[in-house]
Amino acid sequence: MKALIAVKRVVDANVKVQVKSDGSGVDIANVKMSMNPFDEIAVEEAVRLKEKGIVTEVIAVSCGDAKCQETLRTAMAIGADRGILVETSEELQPLAVAKLLKALVEKEQPQLVILGKQAIDDDANQTGQMLAALADLPQATFASKVELAGDKLNVTREVDGGLETISLSLPAVVTTDLRLNEPRYVTLPNIMKAKKKQLDTFKPEDLGVDVKPRLKTLKVSEPPKRGAGIKVPDVATLVDKLKNEAKVI
Ligand code: AMP
Repeated sequence: MKALIAVKRVVDANVKVQVKSDGSGVDIANVKMSMNPFDEIAVEEAVRLKEKGIVTEVIAVSCGDAKCQETLRTAMAIGADRGILVETSEELQPLAVAKLLKALVEKEQPQLVILGKQAIDDDANQTGQMLAALADLPQATFASKVELAGDKLNVTREVDGGLETISLSLPAVVTTDLRLNEPRYVTLPNIMKAKKKQLDTFKPEDLGVDVKPRLKTLKVSEPPKRGAGIKVPDVATLVDKLKNEAKVI
């Protein structure tokens, strides 16, 4: 069974981003970029399924500019067999990415498509769901456990009240939650091996997809600064203030 994994290049999770002075977005010039953490989990899960003999080929896909090749090489160093870059300089929004992935699903016919539950840069949490709808595939979002049971995929999902397990027919779309697995460290030999793996590049036009943005960002602003706290002399004063000033108890 083939697995197709979507990997996005995003600002590294440890970078503290600054909002541009004109409020048009965040400044990502000269900041460290990495693979979206949920996508690392997606690649790890596919590689584990390959190691168990369930998946036969793991294909990583990234959409964006030429630098996304680095992200694909990282995916291949984790264990993906090959990479596909959909190269464009256009700003990509979730709907456009979902359409590109749908075209690749039609081309590659994977049984399993794994995405991150959300990209940590735009926090959209939309692409997996849109892809499932466009490709008319069953979906399991926020997966914390994935198991093949015969010709079905059992996915345990983190929901508000606890854990929910659902059974999906294949092919299916799964989006990863944080607790699905802990991605392995990439080793130097595997980084070297990844450089020799196949990486194909397409343009959105080759896949017949119009990626023009449909949403316009009106404004991005910093969160309000937190005010200073106060010290109270004793518990009675604290309770009084919570009750009568903050009115939270
Ligand atoms: P989002 O809907 O933007 O929060 O992204 C959810 C997931 O969709 C990510 O974790 C990735 O797996 C995938 N994705 C989003 N944008 C891209 C992209 N440009 N290239 C590859 N995968 C993407």
